Amino acid sequence: MGATGIHAVDLLVLGAGMAGLSAAAWGVRQSASVVLVERGEVGGSARMSGGTVWTVQDEGELSDHMPDSRLARALYGDFESIFDWFRSVGVVPVMEKDVLRYGRGRLISIQDYLRICEKMVRDDPASELLVGPDTRELILEDGAVRGARLVDVDGNQIEIRAGATVLATGGFQNDPDLRAELIHPNARHMPVRGNHQSRGTGLRLALAAGAQVSRPDAGFYGHLLPSEVSFSEQDDYRSLTLFFSEHAILVNLEGRRFVDETHGDHLNAIALLKQPGARGLLIADARVYEQWIIPPYAANMPSIDRFDYVFKRGARCAVAGDLDEILDMPPEWGYDGAVVRQAVLDFNRQCARGSLDPTRRFDAAPIDRPPYYLVEAVPAITFTFTGPMIDDQARVLDKEGKPIDGLYAAGGDAGGVYYNGYAGGLSSATVFGLRAARSALEGRR
Ligand SMILES: Cc1cc2nc3c(=O)[nH]c(=O)nc-3n(C[C@H](O)[C@H](O)[C@H](O)COP(=O)(O)OP(=O)(O)OC[C@H]3O[C@@H](n4cnc5c(N)ncnc54)[C@H](O)[C@@H]3O)c2cc1C
Repeated sequence: MGATGIHAVDLLVLGAGMAGLSAAAWGVRQSASVVLVERGEVGGSARMSGGTVWTVQDEGELSDHMPDSRLARALYGDFESIFDWFRSVGVVPVMEKDVLRYGRGRLISIQDYLRICEKMVRDDPASELLVGPDTRELILEDGAVRGARLVDVDGNQIEIRAGATVLATGGFQNDPDLRAELIHPNARHMPVRGNHQSRGTGLRLALAAGAQVSRPDAGFYGHLLPSEVSFSEQDDYRSLTLFFSEHAILVNLEGRRFVDETHGDHLNAIALLKQPGARGLLIADARVYEQWIIPPYAANMPSIDRFDYVFKRGARCAVAGDLDEILDMPPEWGYDGAVVRQAVLDFNRQCARGSLDPTRRFDAAPIDRPPYYLVEAVPAITFTFTGPMIDDQARVLDKEGKPIDGLYAAGGDAGGVYYNGYAGGLSSATVFGLRAARSALEGRR
């Protein structure tokens, strides 16, 4: 163990992704002294994102996604003003767009935003960005959080005393035990679609400070990815994501449909996790291929043959010239080809009758134009929904529901924001990151 370095600052922020960089940059802008700590690569999952900052179109719809009305009001109420914040640091939002049928948002140059926030911290003489250290524990004094003790990559201890600490480490998606405990037993083997550093540091630190944890089984934000492929932080996740599941048929290992696929690929991922083996088969036809696999899923995405792309990555996929060829599906995939073929026939019959079970709200067209495209999908997680419960000022709450003095959480580290629904990751990270910093620095002398 090496030397001990001691810092004393107004604000300590753990994690330099969307929430942490926003909180730290806002602190610097307010002339606060800030230490921002990043264990992996600055930018987190945000640097892999599409940069679409969005939330629901109508406030009334938020109750479908956010059970806590105060948090919902905070997200909706601050949504427009975060674009003023982006502009104030030199990032001009462009292109209004609709998202997921119920959302609206604008595109920002996410790389520029992350770089500018990082530079604001690095250039500020009173502030510092530490890349590499991990946080061992929070400094607790009379029930209040007064900073944290870190260890850098060489084993040196660093003590940072701070008036307030913001947890922004992105969630616990890289911890298989926590996933199994707090999401679903099948989540233990779920691949991660995002940064590979978020391992539950924020949650563990908050628990040690007496925090209340929001409801487990809240689901997660993720998407369907091809099975049998291993993923790294370098992956182009947007090209690998099977967004077209919203228009395909999704059957489980028993060859049975179990969800209205058309509500959204992110909801298909939550539903598939609970199915046997947590994997399923997507079946698309020539219509889906032409309209939803080849064209870009969103305006800022490239147009590539997503099916070919995942095939080249070693995914389990096949093209069937007609429905009978489904009978020749490789046995090691574990599906009964005859049952899957029958599921497609039943689906098409139900489409003709106009009564589907499960129903299809948005695309009830049959899957009947050969060739057929089959790909096995697994749910993959981007960030977690369960975590230390926050209030609308992003203050972490204790088991009695009272704010823990000096402790804040935002982004994937904040619990209670989403429950089996989703209304934007970048927006909620920014709104609650900025609220955390503002609230933390309010009482500063
Ligand atoms: C491919 C992809 C596309 C996406 N597209 C969009 C989109 O268009 N719109 C949208 O709204 N959302 C999108 N998202 C989701 C969005 O990126 C996240 O919601 C957002 O980044 C969450 O912010 P965060 O700060 O909580 O986590 P992150 O941005 O992941 O940042 C967390 C940071 O904490 C660091 N960290 C972890 N542990 C520690 C520790 N112990 N100490 C210090 N640092 C630590 C991590 O390395 C990371 O840098 C996308 C995500 C992905 C992966």
